[in-house]
Amino acid sequence: MFQMRFRNESEKRNTGGVALLLASACLLPATLTTPAAAGSCPAVVSPQSIPCSGNRAAERLEMTLSGVTVSDFALHQGLAESLRHYALETVDPVAMRQQLDATGTVSLSLAGQSRQLVLEAVDLRAPSWESLIVTEDADIRLPAGPVDTFKGHVAGQPRSQVRLLIDPDLVMGYVELDGRRFFIDPAYKFVPGGGSNRLVIYQEADLLPEPGIDCALTEVREHAQGLDARSADAPGDQHLVAGAPSKRFTLVRWVDFATDADFEYYAIHGSGTNAHIRGIVNMINGFYGDTALIVKVASQRVFTSQGGDPYSTCSVWGQWCELWDEWETNRQGVARDVAYLFSGKALFWDLPNGFRHRVRGTANMLGTVCDLDRAYVLSTDYREVGLVSHELGHALDGRHLRDSLSLSQELALCPDVDCGADTCGDPNPAGGPVMCGHIQQPTLDFHPVTVSEIKSFVASSGSCLSPVIIPYWP
Ligand SMILES: [Zn+2]
Repeated sequence: MFQMRFRNESEKRNTGGVALLLASACLLPATLTTPAAAGSCPAVVSPQSIPCSGNRAAERLEMTLSGVTVSDFALHQGLAESLRHYALETVDPVAMRQQLDATGTVSLSLAGQSRQLVLEAVDLRAPSWESLIVTEDADIRLPAGPVDTFKGHVAGQPRSQVRLLIDPDLVMGYVELDGRRFFIDPAYKFVPGGGSNRLVIYQEADLLPEPGIDCALTEVREHAQGLDARSADAPGDQHLVAGAPSKRFTLVRWVDFATDADFEYYAIHGSGTNAHIRGIVNMINGFYGDTALIVKVASQRVFTSQGGDPYSTCSVWGQWCELWDEWETNRQGVARDVAYLFSGKALFWDLPNGFRHRVRGTANMLGTVCDLDRAYVLSTDYREVGLVSHELGHALDGRHLRDSLSLSQELALCPDVDCGADTCGDPNPAGGPVMCGHIQQPTLDFHPVTVSEIKSFVASSGSCLSPVIIPYWP
């Protein structure tokens, strides 16, 4: 296990100065919107400083790195705050991997029944892939280990689907069987100190609703207009595949997905941070197939100290600006189709009336993939399979369903839209499609209108996405 030193009194890593400017600007006494200037991000300044989770993150990191786990009683208490029903399974990830290498299968109990999962490796790392750990002193490049992402089916159930990451410290994924989707997450994702060898297995409808948590696309889009590109585009893809599709093969395109993870995200996931992100990507590929896209991880970077993290604010707009600035300034040479920040911060959007609205993620506008100076997206550590699919969907020109259909149709599909569970009652327990504007517990399926939007965008503006011919399974 990789362990890092942590110092509270460190100097801010020099990321070009703008991140420092944004952080300090949050302390100004009035609400101001600085006009956009060429090559700079207009800061939206709130009346109060934006409370970030620095001290809490440091405490969380200590627990994460210590390996200390809470008791079963405390774990069940914590899980009851997020889930109506669940099962707990204790596993040994190393032994699970050994079983897989020896037999091509792993064993897992689902709904009280032992199942054999038949798995094959699926390497989602692009040819350009690199994994960086950024400390206060150095950038450490991690060696490429064996493939840790798998797909397959339940033995005897050929129409089932399995997506699983099996890393020495982490097991996560889902099993789709008989119309039900079982999620498999390490317990620490729900309860600090829950451990990574205790797996929580639950279904979508088991997740308890949370009030008033939205995507900030609309708000951030208004402020992102007029940003000028700072420098030349990143290098393009080099992995074109020649040949025409036939009846036995199908043409798909790769989305090269370059990721950053901030210090707070590292505090939650520790040395398994980049593996966790690969696990998320493996899962979303299970249903991005409807759009004829495969999401590949182009590069991964994680910041292991608060002092070295260029992402410092909890304003969602401020953080989007920091993402834009960091990649326009220091990451132009990184091959990618879209850059994505995984944040462990609690993000807010300050409304003109003084209220603060909690948000879970944002893209800056629609259809930015391939437009590298604008293709920046971020989200928080919250029901991430649906959330990352949602925000990446915006970058691929997927709209909120109220914009694609109508508000009344979105209300029917996503009953909690535009109001929280505290004022509108429980959201639809069956969830809604991925592009519901109010992110609650999506079904993880794209509405047909979203599939159509994404396919149209890829056909007209997706020239940077490398075409690949793959075997076709009817
Ligand atoms: Zn959205």
